[in-house]
Amino acid sequence: MITRRSVLTGAALLGVSAFSTRVHGACSVFTRAKQAAITPEQALERLKEGNARFVAGRTVQCDLREQVQATAGGQAPFAAILGCMDSRVPPELVFDQVIGDIFVVRIAGNFVNTDILGSLEYATQVAGAKLIVVLGHTDCGAVKGAIEEVKLGNLTAALANIRPAILEVTDVEGPHDVNNKKFLRAVTERNATYAAALLTARSEVLGDLVNDHKLMIASAVHDVSTGAVAWLGNPATSKPTTSNQASGARRSGNDRVLRDPDGDKACADPQDHDRHCTEER
Ligand SMILES: [Zn+2]
Repeated sequence: MITRRSVLTGAALLGVSAFSTRVHGACSVFTRAKQAAITPEQALERLKEGNARFVAGRTVQCDLREQVQATAGGQAPFAAILGCMDSRVPPELVFDQVIGDIFVVRIAGNFVNTDILGSLEYATQVAGAKLIVVLGHTDCGAVKGAIEEVKLGNLTAALANIRPAILEVTDVEGPHDVNNKKFLRAVTERNATYAAALLTARSEVLGDLVNDHKLMIASAVHDVSTGAVAWLGNPATSKPTTSNQASGARRSGNDRVLRDPDGDKACADPQDHDRHCTEER
């Protein structure tokens, strides 16, 4: 089978400047040694470069069967992505990564709950990933559904996880509905940064890794009309230092109280929708 890699290798032998020379090693899988050598900053740069290739239509073409064989004995991904389930936002493709490169956790609306936290604690503390990216996206049905307060089976509880981000967007003019593009964009961004903040606010494991500079947390929004990823603010390089700051990730801007209607007591975990925590003002 003729792959781009073999063609480019041939080009290199002939002394021809080829794109592969700028993405050398792109088809070699991540090993423990390779993972240990990469810094969180380099991991972020690797994803940025991958998205640039994706947008430019210059993705690396690797023989995936070779990679299956190369990763059969274990994995050492350099990053983890928390993204939406939307079919237009597959992280491996959007960031032009291949088998064994990244962990991917996907759920409608890319929110954080206990199960997501546990998965990401495994990806980082146990498996060694250096970067977590919360990846929201434009035209997100989950975000739109949460804004419109859609009620449907278990989806109702799932969308409630996006509600805090909606309530925190108070500075956008015009109607706060899905037809207001600025409001929708602001909620989409806030939902991603809110989830990123929760990672360290709710996980001591992740917070300690960040404080030890072994992990970076970033948030971004993928544009489904262009394929481009826009990065939001500065990546987290330290966890909140006070309990106020940590709780601020959950309650900033509003003095909301979360209550469990069954127990009539404040929910310790505002994301604990298994207990059907609801908000009170
Ligand atoms: Zn979505």
